[in-house]
Amino acid sequence: MTSIHSLAVFCGSRLGTNPVYAEAGRVLGRGLAEAGIRLVYGGGRIGIMGVVADAVLEAGGTVLGVIPGFLVSREVGHSGLTNLAVTESMHMRKVKMYEEADAFLIMPGGLGTLDETFEILTWRQLGLHDKPILLCDVAGWATGLLQVMSQAVEQGFADAASPGLVAVFPDVAKVIEHLKNLDRGSGSTGGVL
Ligand code: AMP
Repeated sequence: MTSIHSLAVFCGSRLGTNPVYAEAGRVLGRGLAEAGIRLVYGGGRIGIMGVVADAVLEAGGTVLGVIPGFLVSREVGHSGLTNLAVTESMHMRKVKMYEEADAFLIMPGGLGTLDETFEILTWRQLGLHDKPILLCDVAGWATGLLQVMSQAVEQGFADAASPGLVAVFPDVAKVIEHLKNLDRGSGSTGGVL
């Protein structure tokens, strides 16, 4: 039995061009529900975000959505979630998602997903937390992102160990398998977010 109780998933508010992205979202949602892991996510009904949340709920799992008030209508806040937390700002949303999660998973997405990815990575790089960060490279969507990180090391702007801050998996099945065997980090390592 995994010691991970809650997973924050960062993913797109759009579906993307390749249907395998949404299919991966559905497999993830079902897998989380079956593993008894609560989904923490951005609270929207649209895009890959909505697909993952709906799949968790359909499979009998638990979902916490975290959404800033101004995005409730724009991202079509999901009204069927187990719990929905409405925050005052984007920054409070990130902090709440961070607090509620034992680990983080990056799935296919756009600029918002990339922003969330780099923020949680840099918080870990700074030693503000030691929660596991996973990335699912569905159909190679993250090739460029991973290249940018390697390039930062090659150019002397990042520590050689920094790409190791994120564990990369080729598909959702491997992510779920890894989550089931993961030990929960001790959370914050004493920094101030
Ligand atoms: P996207 O990947 O652009 O579809 O966005 C995915 C999620 O990230 C959505 O819930 C967006 O509201 C959110 N998002 C977009 N920009 C930011 C940001 N600067 N900080 C935090 N979340 C963001």
